[in-house]
Amino acid sequence: ALDGAPVLTVDGLTVQFGALKALDDVSFTVPAASIMGLIGPNGAGKSTFVDAISGFLPQHDGRVLLGDRDLAGLSPTRRARLGLRRTFQQDRVPPALTVGAYVRFVARRRLAAADIDEVLAFFGCPPARSRLSSVDVGTRRLVEVAANVAARPRLLILDEPAAGLSHEEHLALAARLRELPARYGVALIIIEHDLDLVRSVCPTLTVLDFGRVLASGPQAEVLANPDVVKAYMGE
Ligand code: ADP
Ligand code: MG
Repeated sequence: ALDGAPVLTVDGLTVQFGALKALDDVSFTVPAASIMGLIGPNGAGKSTFVDAISGFLPQHDGRVLLGDRDLAGLSPTRRARLGLRRTFQQDRVPPALTVGAYVRFVARRRLAAADIDEVLAFFGCPPARSRLSSVDVGTRRLVEVAANVAARPRLLILDEPAAGLSHEEHLALAARLRELPARYGVALIIIEHDLDLVRSVCPTLTVLDFGRVLASGPQAEVLANPDVVKAYMGE
């Protein structure tokens, strides 16, 4: 992709559950190797957005492009192979595997052992031979992020990555996330309830409320937007 060309273009994305529009005409772009926070009150449509973009919710109106590739009709696996990956809000890391086996399982591509070790070390994760059953929940979340980064995606969507982390793990995660675009060439969309993490990591923000984009742009501008303040006060 050209420098500054969007890695993701969302155009008129609309998802309807019966009478409810969980997403209503959502449009924005994400530049390559950038970090955007996607925030909004409970029920705003954040998880629906991730599901629609990553192919878990194929029934929607509007267009989703990865680079200049239209993703219509492509399965989650196909999208992952094209470089669009996501993590899940719930802990889905299988305890029976070693850390290294899990990274290979998630990446679904050939990885050199040295590359796995490098990513695990960068995230401060236990070494590849460790059993996931001996790793605490907070560290498992880091391993999930590390495994997806090891797959070298163009876009990684993180659904509430700080959930279940201690304060120290939270700070460590924030520091690593900030470095990911420059280090691995990946763009991040970070869905987060925790505004502290968003403030410290995301230069740009998009706010959803009742399925609509309430505000989108530079962090300071968005957080000072009266409509955004009102939406958060109303929680
Ligand atoms: P958020 O992640 O921002 O909390 P969600 O995307 O989970 O919000 O939900 C957006 C809205 O869509 C909510 O009103 C929720 O109840 C509704 N919703 C989500 N998934 C479904 C579904 N599978 N069927 C019906 N309604 C749903
Ligand atoms: Mg959610």
